[in-house]
Amino acid sequence: MLDREQDSIGPLPVAAVAGWDLEADVVVVGLGAAGACAVLGAVEAGAEVLALEAAGAGGGTSAMSGGLIYLGGGTPLQKACGFEDSAEDMFRFLMAASGPDPDRAKVRTYCDGSVAHYQWLVDIGVPFKPAFFPEPGLEPPTDDGLVYSGGEDAFPFDRLARPAPRAHKPQHRHAAGRFLMDRLLAAVEGSAARIETDVRVLRLVVGPDDRVVGVVARRAGRDLQIGARRGVVLCAGGFVHNDEMVQRHSPLVARCSLRLGNDFDDGRAIRMAQALGAAVTRMDAAEVAVPITPPRKLVAGILVNGQGQRFINEDTYYGRVGQEILFRQGGEAYLIVDESLYEVTRAGLGASWVAETAAELGTEIGLPPGSLSATLDLYNRHAADGHDPVFHKAAPFVRPLEGPLGAYDLRVTNPACFYATFTLGGLVTSVDGEVGHVDGRAIPGLFAAGRTTSGVAASGYASGISLGDGTLFGRRAGRAAASP
Ligand SMILES: Cc1cc2nc3c(=O)[nH]c(=O)nc-3n(C[C@H](O)[C@H](O)[C@H](O)COP(=O)(O)OP(=O)(O)OC[C@H]3O[C@@H](n4cnc5c(N)ncnc54)[C@H](O)[C@@H]3O)c2cc1C
Repeated sequence: MLDREQDSIGPLPVAAVAGWDLEADVVVVGLGAAGACAVLGAVEAGAEVLALEAAGAGGGTSAMSGGLIYLGGGTPLQKACGFEDSAEDMFRFLMAASGPDPDRAKVRTYCDGSVAHYQWLVDIGVPFKPAFFPEPGLEPPTDDGLVYSGGEDAFPFDRLARPAPRAHKPQHRHAAGRFLMDRLLAAVEGSAARIETDVRVLRLVVGPDDRVVGVVARRAGRDLQIGARRGVVLCAGGFVHNDEMVQRHSPLVARCSLRLGNDFDDGRAIRMAQALGAAVTRMDAAEVAVPITPPRKLVAGILVNGQGQRFINEDTYYGRVGQEILFRQGGEAYLIVDESLYEVTRAGLGASWVAETAAELGTEIGLPPGSLSATLDLYNRHAADGHDPVFHKAAPFVRPLEGPLGAYDLRVTNPACFYATFTLGGLVTSVDGEVGHVDGRAIPGLFAAGRTTSGVAASGYASGISLGDGTLFGRRAGRAAASP
């Protein structure tokens, strides 16, 4: 498939620029969470900074989000809520949960810098209430500040690292993304940075040595040539709303019913860097949330695939469940519960089939004959003793499923069951946001952060990592770009 966009995306030689319409030391493209922190990082480093935002105001997908920020290693908030954590436990968890094979240097930098980054967020005006919310997963409906968001306290992670909740939610009821962005944008507006909105960046401008020295952008039909004396930082989000890119790189994601992101998540920044030789990675990776909870009690049911077999511990993070169903179970799964557990989920999903026995239920669903009864027999036999020796679900959720049974249809083809997704792949960057060329060197003058890059969550995910790594590595990229 070819890119049918009309505007050229290839780099413009600086020789073709008659004069700059605007100029600054550092030009930041995109004013979501990563961009706002890149601006602040560059300003702190003493640079004159210009932020360019395609929309009428900053915010981006960050403002649409739940606002959970993945932080740990013993933040004051974790301590105030009575949880012990260390950078080492956080590192062990993330190396296991955000892989396979996440970028070790990024995960290390992220974990080691997490407590200081929390303090930085507080200092610039992002408040957190020291209260723990016990239901894991979604952002709390309350203004409580701390919640489990990645299955840290469930198998297999509870055996790899000491569990601790790490999703820090700014003090705001329900989704806190807009609130977080209001605070970050207030800090940007209070800084010396200049902000230009309704300006969509289209291409990079390069010097004779392939150094990035500016961008070409469009405002109200007019092209602007904008110079960057020290560096350009791309913080323009991911590509979930670019159908061609999604189809090409991650066709299974194209099957998901709910693509999360703002309209400018079109991958333009990734492609304009690629046109200069930038390397990309993990372009098939995506967060895939299938919210089977709340209510939490449903994890006492069992998840089975199209062969009627269990494939995961049901008490893990629902994003892990979603990725498993979509990428490794052919997009087919069913949640089996008995009458005592049954409840319509908060997302509005009820049972599609009900039967007196497992054999009848399997037949109704269309599973291979006898498969569901065999799975349930084995599960119930051990559950009677409170154990799950096959997938190690935690004891409080393990008990036999008895009497009439119901099955929730979790197939990706079921429009009533939403699969919420956004892309995780993007530009290859160093811990300082330098964009890597396909030949392995850094592209001079070009930096990136946030979902324009492949970050801490290389493939696996925990809620809060996008705002976490976008803000932390956004700051670092801004600072590095500001260095003369
Ligand atoms: C409903 C929902 C809930 C979520 N909940 C969470 C959560 O709780 N925690 C978490 O970590 N993540 C969450 N996410 C994901 C997270 O919000 C995003 O991955 C993250 O905000 C991306 O941040 P960013 O700064 O990279 O991009 P954005 O916030 O999207 O910022 C990019 C900015 O760049 C601008 N832009 C794009 N192209 C151009 C261009 N060519 N020129 C100029 N400007 C441009 C955009 O308009 C935008 O303002 C959620 C997402 C959604 C939709």
